[in-house]
Amino acid sequence: MKITDVEVIPVKGRHWPRFPMVFVEVHTDEGLTGLGEALPYQATGVIESLRQLGEALRGANPFQIESHWEQLFRRGADLPALSALETAMWDIVGQALGTPIYNLLGGACYDRIHVYVDGFFREGEPTPDAYAEKAVEAVALGYDALKMDVDDFLRSGKALNRGMSATELRDVTETVDAIRCAIGEGVDLAMDCHWAFDVATAIKLGHALEPYDLMWLEDPIPSGNVAALAKVRAEAGVPICTGEVLETRFAFREMLEEQAADVLMPDLARAGGILEMKKIAAYADTYYVPIAPHNMMGPVATMASVHLCACIPNFRILEYQMGDVPWRDDLVDRPHVVQDGHIALPTDPGLGMALNHAEVIKYRVS
Ligand SMILES: [Mg+2]
Repeated sequence: MKITDVEVIPVKGRHWPRFPMVFVEVHTDEGLTGLGEALPYQATGVIESLRQLGEALRGANPFQIESHWEQLFRRGADLPALSALETAMWDIVGQALGTPIYNLLGGACYDRIHVYVDGFFREGEPTPDAYAEKAVEAVALGYDALKMDVDDFLRSGKALNRGMSATELRDVTETVDAIRCAIGEGVDLAMDCHWAFDVATAIKLGHALEPYDLMWLEDPIPSGNVAALAKVRAEAGVPICTGEVLETRFAFREMLEEQAADVLMPDLARAGGILEMKKIAAYADTYYVPIAPHNMMGPVATMASVHLCACIPNFRILEYQMGDVPWRDDLVDRPHVVQDGHIALPTDPGLGMALNHAEVIKYRVS
């Protein structure tokens, strides 16, 4: 089998016009089409990289995933683009062999994938009552794990110098207190800090939130200095999670060796694709660190993550977006179904999902 063409399909999403969702279709001479998705923080760059890497793969055998990945990686390929193409090749292989991708990676450890919701607070005012109300609404939908952002509470401008005012710290703590009171002890809660703080502020925030038994505090400081993050982890009194901007197992090496995080959250659409995620997970398991994949984009990256999570023993929980564009599920023919805070494993060959082009055309951007 040979790859004949690679088509890049950018589609509006909840981040539009900052950036679109970026899908890729890999076509073959045997009529099979593989589907992938890239995490597009720099959309134009990802789109151009997908086109160039697609040219490099024209004529290639889509079964030789490891070889293609290694050769493109060694030459400095854009990792989100490479991740999308890698996913699409697994989709082709699964379809050709008539089995879901997870069956090609060791088989499923779970029959459904536990998810937590990010974005439960969207459309809500950043006040304790409003956030608590939104949290209760999410729990009523069946979710038992939620994640909020610290960003909406940082209004003093101190965030630019990685600080936090006493008022901001009080607002955040009161909001977490209100949410915890509203949802009870049986629902997990995480907080994403988006790399906002210095070491001392991160530790102070961790201590303030210690009574609320957070699932984790995410990216309290930038991930560039691993020793600094290890200090936060040692002193903050809350579990630390990081890794959504890290690419390949090599970026996770020092993070693991320095034991700087309690949970790692590589993103399949950025870190290198399905097999690279499997390698990162295996490496993390040698330090008994669980994997909670980051997943902020569309239905294709979510479905690929479901296949991956199914076959990693140290899988903790998968991110899932609430409050996304209402037509997200329309973009694909077999959207994943979330029930009781879990996504059922697909049983169709490959990814188990194809683009619904009649709908995609309505939201496609050039
Ligand atoms: Mg995050």
